Amino acid sequence: MIRAGLGRDLHRLTEGRPFLLAGIRFPFPKGEEGHSDGDVLAHAVIDALLGASALGDIGELFPPSDPAWKDADSMELLRLVWARVKAAGWSLGNLDCVVIAEAPKILPRREDIRAALAAALETDITAVFVKGKTGEGLGPVGQGLAVEAEALCLLERP
Ligand SMILES: [Zn+2]
Repeated sequence: MIRAGLGRDLHRLTEGRPFLLAGIRFPFPKGEEGHSDGDVLAHAVIDALLGASALGDIGELFPPSDPAWKDADSMELLRLVWARVKAAGWSLGNLDCVVIAEAPKILPRREDIRAALAAALETDITAVFVKGKTGEGLGPVGQGLAVEAEALCLLERP
């Protein structure tokens, strides 16, 4: 059995917060606002995995109202979710992601992001890809007010 999962997330960018993608920190004056560390890419990947396995969504598992998740390491949340998905008998076919941000540029750290996601999901780096896009100056992403991420995964179960 094969199941596809789609995840999408958006965070406001604000000064004095780290800009994180899959736990990789970019030197940038602004970062993602959020109850957790705000890692927009980790969140999109979590929702893709949960969607494909029909195990819920990130807001259900880690409610922002719960102080336990304040400033949580989102890559740790991803590892917890992967453990659950794996326990349900699923293995990962592949994961493909898009990060949309006017700045900073994703490409210089792309391999680090792929490696971090592959490690968290206990898979080979060739099963994980990440592309960077800009907002072409349009909308909140284009104006540098927000960063967005999309993730698509395939899960397989015998
Ligand atoms: Zn989020």
